[in-house]
Amino acid sequence: MSVTQNIKGIFKELGNTKLVCVTKTVEPERINKAIRAGATVIGENRIQEFEDKCGDILPCEKHFIGHLQSNKAKKAVEYFDVIQSVDSIKIIENINSKAEDIAKIQNVFLQINIGNEPQKFGFKIDEVGEIIEYIHSLKNVKVKGLMCIPPFLSPEDTRPYFKKMKEIFDEMQQYNQDNIDIRELSMGMSNDYIVAIEEGATMVRIGSAIFGDRKY
Ligand SMILES: *Cc1c(COP(=O)(O)O)cnc(C)c1O
Repeated sequence: MSVTQNIKGIFKELGNTKLVCVTKTVEPERINKAIRAGATVIGENRIQEFEDKCGDILPCEKHFIGHLQSNKAKKAVEYFDVIQSVDSIKIIENINSKAEDIAKIQNVFLQINIGNEPQKFGFKIDEVGEIIEYIHSLKNVKVKGLMCIPPFLSPEDTRPYFKKMKEIFDEMQQYNQDNIDIRELSMGMSNDYIVAIEEGATMVRIGSAIFGDRKY
């Protein structure tokens, strides 16, 4: 199947759910095929790789979805419309300060470690409210959503994690004011996006189902 056919097939299943076309390891030529087929948002997880290829990518919205190191915060703020993978106070303070330097309001999502997995990045479920209250004081970031990467299981077994994310998403609506504007729930990847949508995802992040398996 071609990129164009894959993406058209996926669009049929999405309804109102937004698509982030995950383009890590994919060369600009194939990314542009996806954009021509209707993709409007791409997701990348490495600053260096994106920097090398961004000049050849057609206009689109850019989301950063990988773990961000502090020394890369400046570039992330320069390049990305949304940083979906904010996973610590330290990194959001850094993002806020770099955004202030260039007079930008940086849109971010907060990454939740929904499976409470020690090897995974993200805020703990029970600290999210407190974190949001703190971010309310930061002037150059705007919290637009929540994202998660659940444990890697069969789609049906990820369902409880998506359900829990939706509960947290609903609970966090009470904090919406000023720079807190939580509208997007980013969850679901190639193998489980159908289940994620059933459980309330507003945005899915799909790579291999569009471009085929990644070759690293
Ligand atoms: C790679 C990646 C995806 C897409 O994964 P696929 O299984 O290829 O769809 C989604 N989200 C994040 C954070 C990723 O790193």
